[in-house]
Amino acid sequence: MSDVRIDDLPVRDELRGKSPYGAPQLDVPVRLNTNENPYPLPEPLVERIAERVRDVARDLNRYPDRDAVELRTQLARYLTDTSGHEVGPAHVWAANGSNEVIQQLLQTFGGPGRTAIGFEPSYSMHALIARGTGTGWISGPRGEDFGIDLAAAEQAIAQHKPDVVFITTPNNPTGNAVPAETVLALYEAAQAAKPSMVVVDEAYVEFSHGASLLPLLDGRPHLVISRTMSKAFGAAGLRLGYLAAHPAVVDAVQLVRLPYHLSAVTQATALAALEHTDTLLGYVEQLKAERDRLVAELRATGYEVVESDANFVQFGRFDGEGGAHAAWRKILDRGVLVRDNGIPGWLRVSAGTPEENDAFLDAVRELKKEQS
Ligand code: PMP
Repeated sequence: MSDVRIDDLPVRDELRGKSPYGAPQLDVPVRLNTNENPYPLPEPLVERIAERVRDVARDLNRYPDRDAVELRTQLARYLTDTSGHEVGPAHVWAANGSNEVIQQLLQTFGGPGRTAIGFEPSYSMHALIARGTGTGWISGPRGEDFGIDLAAAEQAIAQHKPDVVFITTPNNPTGNAVPAETVLALYEAAQAAKPSMVVVDEAYVEFSHGASLLPLLDGRPHLVISRTMSKAFGAAGLRLGYLAAHPAVVDAVQLVRLPYHLSAVTQATALAALEHTDTLLGYVEQLKAERDRLVAELRATGYEVVESDANFVQFGRFDGEGGAHAAWRKILDRGVLVRDNGIPGWLRVSAGTPEENDAFLDAVRELKKEQS
């Protein structure tokens, strides 16, 4: 039995020799590697979740609300309140994490014989979900400073005429935001080339110095904004992602979603978290201050840092072949887990609690001393 490997099975050709998404889940004192929110949920929210889940538990003999209407209504209210742009439940769709939102978008607008483009380095799951849905992947360019070079990006869109364009802002793993004018220009380029769907992945937007691009949805039916409760709401374990778009897009993704994909327990938990939005956004403010402190301290220690609008910071540079990985290992030896995304010379650290960030800063200061 155990000598049968994946490639011995009749798996699809494009899955042969591939590895699953795999941020290491190591048991170390300080884990700053997956852009999670370090704060446990506040006790009153834990109580409210228990209460709401208890209420739905009695009805678990029934399927949940297939269209998650109450949840979409509250998500729409949250988007309206935080952006000043009126969003209604018909513009919102929710799924099990924004990864599932992205999967549903690619099942709807990508698929065999179609392509999607992202500007890399960026969130690696866009390419992986493309592969899983049989969508061809095009790796678009980014500049030396990890910003999107508009001319080069427009050219890539004109050349490849992709069906789906991903723009991650703030970008993961680099942390920098894409200016609204660039997103608008890429939207225009994508409409001229195909027209294609443009998916703006705003997983980290609550941590940004700038505003959400939600107001751009007006009059742009091919634009989709993807969001998540994993980061700002500190609820990565909940698995709740959502999108805002023209209602026709919401109707379209319902053609591919599995019936009852969002469990009653998930819907109840997310609704409880949304009742505590103000408290949770308070943590976001603390994390933004800590993120800014990490940027300042890393620079003061002599590291290069990419400007960050997210809850993490990309820092370097670590010279030489495998330099970043060697540094990753040394930081780990000091009990701090950061992320090596395979970008030569750079590592990424998520903003943790002040104590966790102090432990990280001590580790990288020691590393700097060792290297000089
Ligand atoms: N988009 C980006 C840019 C991300 O970094 C992540 C999580 N790392 C996600 C989407 C997926 O988040 P989730 O599925 O937890 O909502």
